[in-house]
Amino acid sequence: EVILSVRDLSASIDDKQILKKLDLTVKAGEIHAIMGRNGSGKSTFSKVLAGHPSYQVTGGEIEFCGASALDLEPNERALAGIFLAFQYPIEVPGVSNLDFLRTAYNALRKHRGQDELDPFDFEDLVEEKLEVVRMDPSFLERSLNEGFSGGEKKRNEILQMALLEPKLAILDETDSGLDIDALKIVASGVNQLATPDNATVLITHYQRLLNYIEPDYVHVMYEGRIVKSGGKELALELEERGYDWLDVQVSAEA
Ligand code: ADP
Ligand code: MG
Ligand code: MG
Repeated sequence: EVILSVRDLSASIDDKQILKKLDLTVKAGEIHAIMGRNGSGKSTFSKVLAGHPSYQVTGGEIEFCGASALDLEPNERALAGIFLAFQYPIEVPGVSNLDFLRTAYNALRKHRGQDELDPFDFEDLVEEKLEVVRMDPSFLERSLNEGFSGGEKKRNEILQMALLEPKLAILDETDSGLDIDALKIVASGVNQLATPDNATVLITHYQRLLNYIEPDYVHVMYEGRIVKSGGKELALELEERGYDWLDVQVSAEA
């Protein structure tokens, strides 16, 4: 079952072409890692998948679960099952984390033609999900992301994911700024949430996260497209050799 099929995708921001004919196919049950040096377009790709309005798709196709996602608004994509955890999660003072999660969860139920979940039942559900990221329930009463440490923000993203059970989870630099304990908790959350029916795309600059989450495929992004794909051994090769050797290889192929 193909969850995501990206073909010849080109996208720009402020007339600057960032994605250049990018191809990627992700099937159910798979974990894909996208690596690449800074500025290669990884975050742009994740935002274009989520439908960020600042980016213009100038060519190609994004097919999600068999239908084009290009005409869907960002919230429609989220409701359809595309989840993007941002590299820098936003802070929302005055909105409790619990309220935020309940709003997001009930919007999803409504989309599926289900009634809102009773608030008490919702709290039970969230507390169950808290165990995935080993967070304390007191965390739910705090304003969304306000004063959260880097690790808490990332764990909160995984909590959102646990609750919303997306078909496709895109995690952009979820490992950045995490100490080793937080990294392990986040990785264990991702591993627990990966099922044969969903798929995960991990965007990471470093190989470190892949010590804890084993990808089925590793891709290298280079100047706005995927230039090399392989198994998990490719991540180790990149760790060892860096990204410079790709310059030679890509220019030789051009
Ligand atoms: P990565 O996540 O791989 O580090 P990005 O997707 O963040 O890469 O950036 C890819 C390229 O797009 C970079 O050259 C960056 O400077 C450029 N870029 C990103 N956002 C903007 C923007 N708002 N305006 C102009 N250029 C941008
Ligand atoms: Mg970057
Ligand atoms: Mg980035």
